[in-house]
Amino acid sequence: MDASPNPDLDFEIRASAAAVAPGTREQLLAAPGFGSVFTDHMATIRWTEKDGWHDARIEPYGPITLDPAAQVFHYGQEIFEGLKAYAQADGSVAAFRPHANAARFNRSAARLAMPALPGALFVRAIELLVRQDRAWVPTAEGHSLYLRPFMIATQVGLGVNKPSSSYLFAVIASPVAGYFNGELRPVKVWLSEDYSRAAPGGTGEAKCGGNYAAAFAGQRQALEHGCDQVVWLDAAERKFVEEMGGMNIWFVHGSGAHARIVTPAPTGSLLHGVTRDSLLKLAPDLGVPASERRVCVADWRDGCASGEIAEAFACGTAAVITPIGEVRSQSAGWIIGDGKTGQVTSMLKEELVGIQYGHKPDRYGWMHPIA
Ligand SMILES: *Cc1c(COP(=O)(O)O)cnc(C)c1O
Repeated sequence: MDASPNPDLDFEIRASAAAVAPGTREQLLAAPGFGSVFTDHMATIRWTEKDGWHDARIEPYGPITLDPAAQVFHYGQEIFEGLKAYAQADGSVAAFRPHANAARFNRSAARLAMPALPGALFVRAIELLVRQDRAWVPTAEGHSLYLRPFMIATQVGLGVNKPSSSYLFAVIASPVAGYFNGELRPVKVWLSEDYSRAAPGGTGEAKCGGNYAAAFAGQRQALEHGCDQVVWLDAAERKFVEEMGGMNIWFVHGSGAHARIVTPAPTGSLLHGVTRDSLLKLAPDLGVPASERRVCVADWRDGCASGEIAEAFACGTAAVITPIGEVRSQSAGWIIGDGKTGQVTSMLKEELVGIQYGHKPDRYGWMHPIA
């Protein structure tokens, strides 16, 4: 579908008359958890076949009223993004690689037969929302403002022979602490041999709610087996590692000056993480070669047994980098390295987080100043 003819759309700003009082806001910011506290405003833009993108607004955060026959409720035509704005060392606020999220949003939109949103409009919505709710950008160490852009199909009707003819794009914002409680605690993972997250030709490369709906049963199994997260294998053979929950996965081969990192190569069914892409560029700068290739479960297990693989970790916007300490499945179980957070994992996290908070040089121009 065509992009909007008016990418420079003006946003109407409707300030909230019921903004949270400063004292209450400070209390909420002291222990925000993850994704449970929301700011005073949201950004919305509507799309119809006739008018393209229109009615761009910053408006009070609140419920969205939809007809019960709106297509999103029945056929799950929905996509989303996740990125963060960080209080910088110099007192300003900047988002990490928002244009990369805008590009991925449009790849997801294409796969779900939804209209493209001009990247400039995606980024503008984020800028205006963060400026409006600047007081909600946390300054505590490790905290940030998580941004959740999403798009839903709003056409009323149960016909299934074509995609919706109208859509709502919105951005909401949530102050967050670290995802896995801040500290670098290694997680235990469960290899899902019963369920698949995504299949060749499916929607695995798109960031859509449907992928998550399909993943909950596997995630529940992981919890039932005493694990924190599920690791997905390829759908055809259940032999190759794809992702960990909603994060991309990495293996550290060798150690010290000989360390190198490997992540599963894109197969069409795994998500192209912005964090994954950032590590592919950053790690070599730190003397750690990074490559993409197919990784089979047997090699992971054998590599840990021989000591060749001393660390594994997952990466994504929410938790940045999370060490993996132990693997379990129906038939096997093993510890990675000494089960603790490895040196390479810690070093990469420190570098990436240093860039995001403005403590380290931003050599690639990833930080987008907002306020
Ligand atoms: C969002 C997501 C990731 C991580 O992507 P980032 O851009 O690094 O946050 C990885 N896997 C899945 C399934 C995701 O939805």
